[in-house]
Order: sequence, then structure tokens, then C-alpha cells
Amino acid sequence: MPSSEWYETGLPHIWLPYAQMKTAPTPLPARSTQGSVITLHDGRELVDGVAAWWTACHGYNHPHIRACAEAQLARMPHVMFGGMVHEPALRLAARLAAMLPGDLERVFYTDSGSVAVEVAMKMAIQYRINRGEPERRRLLAFKGGYHGDTLATMAICDPEEGMHHLFSGVMPEQAVIDLPRDDATRAAFENFLQTQASTLTAIVVEPLVQGAGGMVFHDPATLSFLRSAADRHGLLLILDEIFTGFGRTGTMFACQQANIVPDIVTLSKALTGGTMALAATVARRHVYEAFLSDDPEKALMHGPTFMANPLACACANASLDLFEREPRLEQVATIAAQLSTALEPCRTLPGVRDVRVMGAIGVVEMDRIADPASLRTRFAAEGAWIRPFRNIVYLTPAFTISEQQLDFLANAIRRVLKDG
Ligand SMILES: *Cc1c(COP(=O)(O)O)cnc(C)c1O
Repeated sequence: MPSSEWYETGLPHIWLPYAQMKTAPTPLPARSTQGSVITLHDGRELVDGVAAWWTACHGYNHPHIRACAEAQLARMPHVMFGGMVHEPALRLAARLAAMLPGDLERVFYTDSGSVAVEVAMKMAIQYRINRGEPERRRLLAFKGGYHGDTLATMAICDPEEGMHHLFSGVMPEQAVIDLPRDDATRAAFENFLQTQASTLTAIVVEPLVQGAGGMVFHDPATLSFLRSAADRHGLLLILDEIFTGFGRTGTMFACQQANIVPDIVTLSKALTGGTMALAATVARRHVYEAFLSDDPEKALMHGPTFMANPLACACANASLDLFEREPRLEQVATIAAQLSTALEPCRTLPGVRDVRVMGAIGVVEMDRIADPASLRTRFAAEGAWIRPFRNIVYLTPAFTISEQQLDFLANAIRRVLKDG
């Protein structure tokens, strides 16, 4: 890789995410981005199959987001949100409330997905305290799930999964059981609730796709089942739409495919079109009302320093403009059809266990991948930015990716997997 002054000087001071620093391949130096292309420092171009961890849904450097960001940057890059509000945050909150189903209408801003989930957890716990049911403080989540990397969110992720199991026992245990996706798991789920519901406040689930846990899909009926089980047992339903929100599964929000209204929803990833860090926890009216009181103790005690950052909110508003003006959901449907055709031949390659597509998510699941990082290096050598993890190779491209670029990525997967 190219030697340049900043790379040589800075690299010894960087600690990378999810990387064994002793053995990880040296990271690629990105110089610029445009559309679905990342240009490296030496001028090499990579077609991006990941869209910056599923965020850059309009492609990189969309001129409309850039113009809105520049205008906001000149006017007011940041101001504190404690006791003060501003147009970008209020416009965005009203737009999110109008887009989300039912009376999901109160928006609490944070700056990362993990923290948005933590806020949802705090809301669900304090909701019970404020209503005089403090014993109902546990959360019920599902194996294969992923809700963030912070201490509290780790406790509702899959307990066995490689990212977090070292930390088991550090935080109070939450309940993590099988997702009720068939008769056997539904029966086990019902049994669990019979005995445990009185200790629980909420069910937390990623709707339709368990993303970072392995891109495992379930059907809308599972979500309807969870909604009715939550109602029967008096539980809140929290949908973590951080990955699925903003079109990724084919509808604006995954919950719309099941026609259900969660009590709390978390959003981040594509919220700003992949430009700025921003997240939101959106609550229904009855959740919010449990915090209204003459007692100051009943207020929600949370407030990140960069909460509702105006620059980030301006980018999110620009991203929502694009969903209104450009045919994003049609593009997702086109990508789904193309991914299905282009990845199907992988099914017969050695070591391939499954090929599946939902919306703009294409997954090739292997029996195992011995070394995901070295596979990534081989994709980069082909000119493709694809980041396998666990036992899957996946594509989550920008919705604006061209047919040729998507074909190029699918071909790269076929070529690399064929060579074993
Ligand atoms: C990425 C993700 C998170 C965590 O978001 P961060 O911004 O990385 O903290 C939480 N839940 C889901 C479903 C995610 O995909």
C-alpha cells in the first residue's frame, strides 16, 4: 500500500474496530468517495458493496445532502439541546412522526445506534417505575440479535456470539431466548412468558432481519405474533430498526410489512444518508405520557452533549427529501430482483449453505469462513469493497448503485468463492 506521511505517522496510533491488531490486514487508505465508488490513496477504485456499514443509502456525496450540510454549517453547526431547540431538529422530528405508523410521535435524539437502544431500554424500565411496577425491569431479546456494543446493549445481544461473550456477567442479565419463528419456538416463547412476564417490561427485536448477528431473516408473521404476545402479556414492544429503517428491506420501515405499531422504535444507520452520526428513539404517546408528572424524578434522565446536532439533523432532513423526490423504494425492488438472479449461481459453489435476498440485502451464507479478513483482502484485490463476517458474505449497496456496479460485485463474490 502507498506510503504517505499521514499514513505512516498516524497508523501506529490507531485502534481499529473488531480487529485483532496483531494479525489484521493493514487498513486501506481511503481518499475520496463518489456514488458507489471509494477511491484509495493510490488512485485505485473500489466498488462499495457495504455502503459504509449500511448507511450511505443514496450513495456517497449526494449533491443535495451536501448543499443542505453546507448551508447548515454556515448558519449553525451546533448548539446545545438542553433548554433550546432549532429548526432542523423540529422539522426532522415532525417528519419522522408523520412517516412512522400509529402514534409513534415523540423523538429523543442521540448520536449512535447503541445509545438509541440504551435510551429505549431506559424508557422501558422507567416506564414501569413511573407506573408503580418497578419489579418489571428485565428485557426479553432474541438469540442471533444485535443491538449495539455498549455495556447495556451487549446484554440483549446474542450471548454466544463472538463479539461480546467475554463480557457475560458484567451487566445484569436480560432474558435472551429463541425468536418465535415456528411452532416449537412459539410454544417455548409462550411458556417463558407464562412464568416470566411479570418480571419483564419489554420485548426487543430487530424486525425482519437480524443484521450484525448474521443477516438472518424472519417473516412479517413473526412480528405480528410478537405484537399480539406483547399485548396479551402487557409488555412493550421495542423494534430496533437501526439496520432495517429507511428502505433497506423494501418498505420505508420493516414494521410496515407486518402492519404493526411498536411502542418504541430506534433509528440510526441510514438516518442521515450516511453522512453524519445521528440516532433517534421514537416513543408512542402512552409511553411518553408515563413520564409526565409534577414529580421531577419521573423525567427521562438522559442527554448526550451532541444531542440533535443541527448539522446531522440537516443531513437527515436532506436524506428524507431524497426519499420523497427520488424513486428509492423502486430502486430497492430492482436491486432485490437483480441480487436474486446474480447471487443464485453461488448456491452450487463449494461450502455455500444458503443464498437469500430481502430488499437491498443479498447474503451468501457459508458453512464457515476460516478468515473473513483475508477474504476481504481478496475482494479488494478484485476492486470490490465487501466485508465478510462470521460465516457470511453479503451485499448491502447504496440504493443508487448502477446495474453494472451491482453485477460487478456479484461477479466478484462468485469468482472469489469459486476459488475457495
Ligand atoms: C448498527 C446497529 C446498532 C448499533 O449502532 P451503532 O451506531 O453502531 O452504535 C444497533 N442495532 C442494530 C440493529 C444495528 O444494526
